Amino acid sequence: MNAIEVSGLTKSYGAVHAVQGIDLTIATGEIFALLGPNGAGKTTTVEILEGFRSRDSGDVRVLGFDPREEGKAARQWRNRIGIVLQSTSDSGDLTVVETIEHFSGYYSHPRHVEEVIHSVGLEEKSGALIRTLSGGQRRRLDVALGIIGNPELLFLDEPTTGFDPEARRAFWALIERLRGDGTTILLTTHYLDEAEALAGRVGVINEGKIVEVSTPTELGGRSTAQALVSWRDGAEIKSEATDNPTFVVSKLTAQFNGEIPELTVTRPSLEDIYLKMIGVTHE
Ligand code: ATP
Repeated sequence: MNAIEVSGLTKSYGAVHAVQGIDLTIATGEIFALLGPNGAGKTTTVEILEGFRSRDSGDVRVLGFDPREEGKAARQWRNRIGIVLQSTSDSGDLTVVETIEHFSGYYSHPRHVEEVIHSVGLEEKSGALIRTLSGGQRRRLDVALGIIGNPELLFLDEPTTGFDPEARRAFWALIERLRGDGTTILLTTHYLDEAEALAGRVGVINEGKIVEVSTPTELGGRSTAQALVSWRDGAEIKSEATDNPTFVVSKLTAQFNGEIPELTVTRPSLEDIYLKMIGVTHE
């Protein structure tokens, strides 16, 4: 069964056509990253799936449920999903542990509060008031609130914005553990390395439309893109774009009679491919 099925989704705000016919299927247990520039329509799409925004047209099923519905079934459905929104509301003068405990009360099968605090690395701030947290610590609390309900499906909208590199790596490890538990995750991020590290598939969205859905290694023909071999030749750095980097390297090995000075062989990064897809060039 698929966790998410979307077809023909549209949403406009007045004259702004934010989402213009999106089709998307995300399998149960999959980690899917939605990539796209500011204003592409990611948050609009995700918040429609979460039941927080209305849509103009299209079919949406999230864990088999239409997020537009209300009532008891909607409350049961909400119990099965976890959400980390892009911006958070302030929960006043509660401590970290009090806030997480409070939220755990909303769910029928919550995780242990202590375990969640540990997962997001907030042990030392457990007794601190929310308003005294740094931006990155605050974001970790948001993630804690997203996973406290032990969700089958987790929505993460730019979860690591403001994290220091260590916190990002710790967060990635947490996502790997959730993947191991079979949690389906829909992630939006502006960090291409994050998408590459975490997602089985990525979808690029631009101006309200899906440009391509693929694996991070195959997106935009990346796996078959030419490699760039570069090396030092005297005072000069030389390079050659090639489909056969091994051949070029062996030719150079013969030319230099051994070690090739400052040899590198690179292929386009996910970021290079992504920027090209959304029409950003450096020329
Ligand atoms: P970002 O990466 O900056 O978070 P996004 O891909 O999430 O961007 P959305 O927030 O979905 O983009 O916005 C898509 C478009 O819809 C933008 O042009 C935005 O200005 C517009 N928009 C979003 N929300 C509203 C709203 N509540 N009212 C009017 N216009 C909106």
